[in-house]
Amino acid sequence: ATMPPLLSAIANAGRHGVLAKSAVVMERLGRVDAVALDKTGTLTEGAPYVTDVRPLPGHGLDEDALLALAAAAEHPSEHPLARAVVDAARARRLTLADAAGFTSAPGLGVSATVAGHTVRVGSPARLLAPGGALADGGVRDAVRELEDAGRTAVAVLRDGAPVGVLGVSDRLRPGAAAAVAALAELTGRSPVLLTGDNARAAGRLAAEVGITDVRAGLLPQDKVAAVREWQDAGRTVLAVGDGVNDAPALAAADSGVAMGRAGSDLTLETADAVVVRDELAALPAVVRLSRRARRLVV
Ligand code: ADP
Ligand code: MG
Repeated sequence: ATMPPLLSAIANAGRHGVLAKSAVVMERLGRVDAVALDKTGTLTEGAPYVTDVRPLPGHGLDEDALLALAAAAEHPSEHPLARAVVDAARARRLTLADAAGFTSAPGLGVSATVAGHTVRVGSPARLLAPGGALADGGVRDAVRELEDAGRTAVAVLRDGAPVGVLGVSDRLRPGAAAAVAALAELTGRSPVLLTGDNARAAGRLAAEVGITDVRAGLLPQDKVAAVREWQDAGRTVLAVGDGVNDAPALAAADSGVAMGRAGSDLTLETADAVVVRDELAALPAVVRLSRRARRLVV
């Protein structure tokens, strides 16, 4: 017996390393005409590494002490940046104190009690903006310098005071530019980059892959708002992401696809389909074969 077209499309998607959860998913993927891509862990490999460790003077912390403090707080987090910080501490063979009362805010950072201190690690724009802690010229300059170099700056606060900044870098996935071009051709418009990261690092990376429409500094709900905006304009949106911060946007989109290997559990659960082989080329491939299947069904 021959398989119905949408079911054989599922099988074909599997061959491209995409696990689609249902035939309905394949049908929807075939109608997509706008694509929203996350940055960290989606366009990039999601295996970022720490490039800079900068303690601010006057807090009694050297590089190792700053890194150990940040890593202790990040230890329970599954965010790629958290893994980068913990790996860097391990590489220096630092001993990490136990963290208590860990909390994480998607798109923002983490908080925990380490050795009796409240430690927060995360987005400088978000952690330092309100209340004028950014008025501390030392942090502002360190953050700006790192971001100008295309890095993601991570702020470390102890009991509310900025005590240092970490610089993190991440490699583009191979084939990112080609996948962006293929998606642009398929949908008739260039994909858009939605990221919680800073505008400078995001803009630099977007230029490398041929994306001109970048929305940076977004919280999870801002990513949802962007998706809804396009839907309201009549578009059928494919959102691709890997982190818990992407899960709401994936759920709001007509099609939500998770980049698998680095993906968080919540994102994998929320997604309609998962790119298990971690290749961006799978995205245009699966849109193409879903369209073919739809033509056979309709
Ligand atoms: P993206 O949208 O590019 O995948 P995220 O939304 O996951 O990025 O993160 C946005 C920003 O929030 C990061 O650039 C970082 O500044 C901050 N952030 C989020 N989680 C963490 C964490 N666990 N440790 C440090 N910074 C974090
Ligand atoms: Mg991400």
